[in-house]
Amino acid sequence: MSKVLGIIGGGQLGMMLTEAAKKMPEHISKVIVLDPNQDCSASLVGAEQIIADFKDENAIIELSKKADIITYEIESGNSDVLKSVEANAEINPSPETLKIIQDKFLQKTFLQNNNIPVPEFIRIENIEEIKEGLKKFGYPVLLKARRDAYDGKGNFKIDSENEIQKAFDYFKGGKLMLEKFVPFKMEVSVIASRNTKGEIKTFPLVENIHEKNILRETIAPARTSNKVSQKAEKIASSTMDVLNGAGVFGIEMFVTQDDNIVINEIAPRVHNSGHHTLQSSKTSQFEQHLRAILGLELGSTELSHNAIMYNILGSLDFEGEYKKVEISKNNIFLKMYEKKISKPLRKLGHLNIIGSNNQTIDQLLDELSQIKDKVEVKSI
Ligand code: AMP
Repeated sequence: MSKVLGIIGGGQLGMMLTEAAKKMPEHISKVIVLDPNQDCSASLVGAEQIIADFKDENAIIELSKKADIITYEIESGNSDVLKSVEANAEINPSPETLKIIQDKFLQKTFLQNNNIPVPEFIRIENIEEIKEGLKKFGYPVLLKARRDAYDGKGNFKIDSENEIQKAFDYFKGGKLMLEKFVPFKMEVSVIASRNTKGEIKTFPLVENIHEKNILRETIAPARTSNKVSQKAEKIASSTMDVLNGAGVFGIEMFVTQDDNIVINEIAPRVHNSGHHTLQSSKTSQFEQHLRAILGLELGSTELSHNAIMYNILGSLDFEGEYKKVEISKNNIFLKMYEKKISKPLRKLGHLNIIGSNNQTIDQLLDELSQIKDKVEVKSI
């Protein structure tokens, strides 16, 4: 029987989930998103919308009554309210898992307790504890907000003693943790999936390049040895094993100087570094997520082509309406998220450059460097 899918959040991830859902009418009859922004990206591709804040209790209850299954495209949903509506709709990933992941300290503690490698960290309640942590970890360290922190905004790097007070004050009393700085070789991620029956599959390791703490490029596969890729994919798989609930998870990791892997962060949802799968793989991460939460057999995660994903971000120098971004080339797939207004570094779209059979990553990077100017976001 075809089901009604509810999604907390209707941004670009909700949009691409909706598009994947529309290709599975025998399993999903309708998509309803809960999002505060009128005309959110998902609503523009056919999702019904409940206009309300992601944490709005009444709106979540309404969604649970209208939907058979609820999932999310953002991790800031209200896990307690979601837990309370489990009788109305199946919720995946589970609210318990969401609750653990929402708090970076609980998330890392959970991973550590399950023997999954993470950087050294401690909980911070006051400035004395930062000083104690520094004795243990040495400089530099990262002071991190435990909750609601994205794109590096919740991190403060402490390089010397005279920055301790400034770092502590920066967070204005929020819940904190301190983490040892990892002088990583590379940032990588694995898109991992687990279906409701416990089947687990991982997409190949990819390499992520950030600009101002925002993902700018993903290179698939990562330029690492097979041994490193296998190690990372195995860690991702073990992580899925211990996490309860089904769905696609984005597992961000660091490759250390001695080729070890530590997990930086887990997103309990489809992930920007998995967008290349839309054209590079047999199954996209969006279809995979739906397959996972519907309890269908997971699709193949094989990478059919080398690929590069490049995020189209709002220019730093203006906020407002922008000129249409266009590119016409057979192996380049542009996806814009139909957001009316550009803001500095706002994710407005992405493009995937897909390699032909024998094209190397270097050749694809070359191609990217030749078109970057053409896809720059410009004011109208
Ligand atoms: P986060 O918001 O915690 O994912 O961190 C944003 C970025 O900060 C990451 O993509 C890394 O570039 C950097 N970062 C986070 N944690 C660490 C760490 N322990 N050591 C070094 N860099 C880090």
